[in-house]
This record gives sequence, structure tokens and C-alpha cells, in this order.
Amino acid sequence: MIDFNVPPSTGKETIYMQQAIDNRKICGDGMFTKKCQAWMNEKFNVPATYLTTSGTSALEMAALLCDLKPGDEVILPSYTFCSTADAFVQRGATLVFVDIRPDTMNIDENKIEAAITEKTKVIVTVDYAGVACEIDTILALAKKYDLKVVEDAAQGFGATYKGRPLGTDCDFGCYSFHETKNLSMGEGGALVLPDLKYRDQAEIYREKGTDRSKFFRGQIDKYTWVDYGSSYLPSDLNAAYLWAQLEEYDAIYNDRMATWNYYDEALKPLAEAGRLIQPTIPKECGHNAHMYYIKLRDLEERTALIKHLREDGIYAVFHYIPLHSAPAGMKFGRFHGEDVYTTAESERLLRLPLYYKITNEDREKVVSSIYHFFGSQS
Ligand SMILES: *Cc1c(COP(=O)(O)O)cnc(C)c1O
Repeated sequence: MIDFNVPPSTGKETIYMQQAIDNRKICGDGMFTKKCQAWMNEKFNVPATYLTTSGTSALEMAALLCDLKPGDEVILPSYTFCSTADAFVQRGATLVFVDIRPDTMNIDENKIEAAITEKTKVIVTVDYAGVACEIDTILALAKKYDLKVVEDAAQGFGATYKGRPLGTDCDFGCYSFHETKNLSMGEGGALVLPDLKYRDQAEIYREKGTDRSKFFRGQIDKYTWVDYGSSYLPSDLNAAYLWAQLEEYDAIYNDRMATWNYYDEALKPLAEAGRLIQPTIPKECGHNAHMYYIKLRDLEERTALIKHLREDGIYAVFHYIPLHSAPAGMKFGRFHGEDVYTTAESERLLRLPLYYKITNEDREKVVSSIYHFFGSQS
């Protein structure tokens, strides 16, 4: 059987987790949390990064920092995971969904402006499959209308746009280290603050509404409850797991990239024959091999291929029923303009097994099963 995903592990995770135990510090903001944050600050050249308990909680912190009032509008794609929307719905915001581009499956930057109203406060971008949105166009719009930009870079850790790391160009960047992402800590994520002006408030929200972080930095002599907040800091045990992966960042990246490139080469003849569509990587984008997907003719063909692969012991999956067609999406938002691509493209997309250390033999089996499927058609 070939799984769709196997959580990454490098072999050092348990050693570092034992170290955290030996350090007598398994709660949040221990040594490994600090090491991970410092690694990200340096690698991505940002002043502050905070590990969180999930990508979802990083988005929740970003939504809190956007300081929304009930009725404020947030523009986002409908083709995304529900967490992108949840964080803002919790603040009382109304969701305004904008169509995606069929080539990258990202929000169509040219359809955003028409969706902006007096109530719009935030644009949320999603870097689908670790391929960046057209961020410069989006940042220019945000500037023109005085909007904040939250980048859901849950899938984009280590990917770039015009050489700039994803999650670092906006007001708030959010990563996920869920077990399905390139690097993992079981459940976890990170909030990136490209601008330190949000630092104090971010720390208050993350530490149950207290100014405890300032206290630990020695800026104040006692800490107190100053605002509302929550507990968004993960256990140092999880951070220890992540640290083992950050140390092997290049190996994980290269390994995933090799599989991505293998699929892309091997399936090219089918794309050239018009049987399937391969992912598009715009020239501005350096992707991170988060996902390899193909697009089939339609829903029916996708269903047949999933079944065919399953019979060969291969798990390939699709995801994201567009949010605007889900019960909560209908309750909390509206689709602006026409849904030209969101639904139609989402029904055609299929993700192939791709994880750290997938064997050559397994990925060859995936490709040959796909060829067999098309050979037995028509
Ligand atoms: C994975 C993911 C999330 C949520 O991350 P968690 O760590 O699972 O909470 C949010 N948005 C997108 C686009 C994702 O892929």
C-alpha cells in the first residue's frame, strides 16, 4: 500500500524530546521553541517569529491583530482549508470569496479590487501547494485601500516569490507544521511578524492576555493580565520534534523536490497528449514541492482514477470542497462575482502521494498506475 502522506521524521526527534525532558522544561517557550524561532528569523530574515499550536492558531493570532469589528469584510479565496476563514469568522467578520486562477489555484489578483467595499479590512492570501500568489499586485491594492494582508502560507514554508520567502511580505504570515506539511511537529504552526510594531500585542494574545513576554525580557518587573488572549504556545516537546526537522531542512526539501520533479517529468507525455494538466509554476515563484497535483477532465474522470489507484494500493486524495458551498461558508460569507474556476477546477484536481523518503519504487508505481489508467481508457 502506498500512503498519501507519511509524517516526516529524521531520526533525531526522540533524542531532542528527551533533552527537553532532561531540561525540565516541556511547557511553551523552552529552549527548542527559541531555537526554532531563531532559525526562522535568520533563514527568512524577519524580526520575529512565534511558534503556535497550529497553523489555525497562527491565523487566529493574525485575525486578532487585524483588530476587526463585527461586520468588517475579509476577502479570501473559496478554494482553501476552512481554517483560513474560521479565524476571521470568530472575530465577527463577513467573508467575501473571490474566484481563483486556474493555473495556480490561487486567488485571482485581478478580481480582488471589484470585491472591495467600505467595510473591507483584510485580504487573506493562500499560497496553494507552496506556490505564491501574485503578492506584489495584492500588496499594491492593500496600500491603495489601506487594507491589511494576512498570508496563509501554511503550505508555503521555504517557498519564495521573486526570491522573497513566503509569509514575510505581508502584515502577518502563517505557517503550519501539521503532519501533512513539509516539516512537522505533529500539530503546530508559526506566526511571522515582518514588522515589530505588532510584537507586544502579539505576545499578549499568545500568552493569555498577559505581558509575560515583556517580563521575561526584563522590560517590566512583574507581569499582569492586560487584555484578552489565549494560549497559542506549543509544548517544547513539539518544538523539539520540529527542531530535528529544521536541522535537516535541506535534505527534506531536496528529497521532496526530487519526487516532485520525477512526477513532473514522468507525466509530461500524458500532459502533451492532452490527457491531464500539470501544475503551473509562474516564473516569479520558487515552490517548495509541497504538493504534486494533476487535473483530470472532470469530476467523473477524477473519481474513476482515484478508484483505479486505490485498486493498485495507492492512496491519492483531493480536498477543499469550496468554502462558499459549505454550510458555514453560506452562513458567514458570500461569493463576489462569478464562480468561473473555483468549483470547476477543484473538482478536477487530484493530489499524488508525496512525502519525505517516499521510495523510487513507490513513486514509479504511482506513475505506472496512472499510465495504465489512461491506457485502459479511450
Ligand atoms: C494546513 C493548512 C491550514 C491549517 O493548519 P493546521 O496546522 O492544520 O491548523 C490552514 N490553511 C491552509 C491553506 C492549510 O493547508
